[in-house]
Amino acid sequence: ELANRVRVFNGDGATKDGHEVQLLANVGDAAGARTAAEAGAMGVGLFRTEFCFLDQPDEPTVEAQVKAYRGVLEAFPGKKVVVRTLDAGADKPLPFLTDATEANPALGVRAYRTTRRDPDVLDHQLEALAQAEAQTEAKVWVMAPMISTAEEAKAFTDKARTYGLQTAGMMIEVPSAALMADKMFEHADFASIGTNDLTQYVMAADRLLSSLADLSTAWQPAVLRLIQQACQGAAPHGRPVGVCGEAAADPALACVLVGLGVASLSMTSRALPDVDAVLKSVDFADCQRLAEIAVGSATADDARTAVRAELPILE
Ligand code: PEP
Ligand code: MG
Repeated sequence: ELANRVRVFNGDGATKDGHEVQLLANVGDAAGARTAAEAGAMGVGLFRTEFCFLDQPDEPTVEAQVKAYRGVLEAFPGKKVVVRTLDAGADKPLPFLTDATEANPALGVRAYRTTRRDPDVLDHQLEALAQAEAQTEAKVWVMAPMISTAEEAKAFTDKARTYGLQTAGMMIEVPSAALMADKMFEHADFASIGTNDLTQYVMAADRLLSSLADLSTAWQPAVLRLIQQACQGAAPHGRPVGVCGEAAADPALACVLVGLGVASLSMTSRALPDVDAVLKSVDFADCQRLAEIAVGSATADDARTAVRAELPILE
């Protein structure tokens, strides 16, 4: 049934009974942001800033950064744009920030951890981001990748706020962050779950190895249990949790995530219409029931099969 639909999204993500779900886009540059705006994205849920500088040997100047960030912010006047600070390392090395000789780069000094060695790079980035925000109408939500402890969550969000960036949060993509979510939200205004890395780290399976694809899926109940724990940690604090990994683009999994309490789903622009259509085919209570089924399943296959069987629109 889904395949026969005209693929449009009108920027009004919600379940059939009106439970609102922000449907946002993952972008890496200004062109991607414009495509996302045309596709109806309600904002940006993940701006991968490192994509702007992948080919550069030296740290970009603050001025060059302001220009790159403005290009994305300008596509979403009045809308939320979640900007992630540099996620350098492992699959995305940045010559000016990461050490190419590390034996285990996925477990190394990557992403937020690079501030141990080079704190100035984050300061310059936050400065540039604050300037870009002041020059545009977008609402910047800033977050750091690979936050592993409550100390890191506090240090990052405190620092971001000193630059005038009012909404400061974190990615939850390291299992420790999901397990400690209740403590993280004493500092973070919001979180976005990166299911790609969260899956890699909880399943101990390299996300780039196609031979381990059966392990590298957020349908794994172990991953879903961590997502559930992250949402449960956020609820008493009233903080929103989003998902910005590949899982958000799987329409059946999107229903499960909404049922677990996820408030926004960020994905490649192309996936917006299908995710929207499937969410509009179910009530929020259905999503909650699907979440219970998935989290209670013994295997990823069981979870996927059982949930899809409850979604007639996918037949
Ligand atoms: C993730 O880890 O799920 C994520 C969204 O970030 P990236 O894919 O850029 O690591
Ligand atoms: Mg990640």
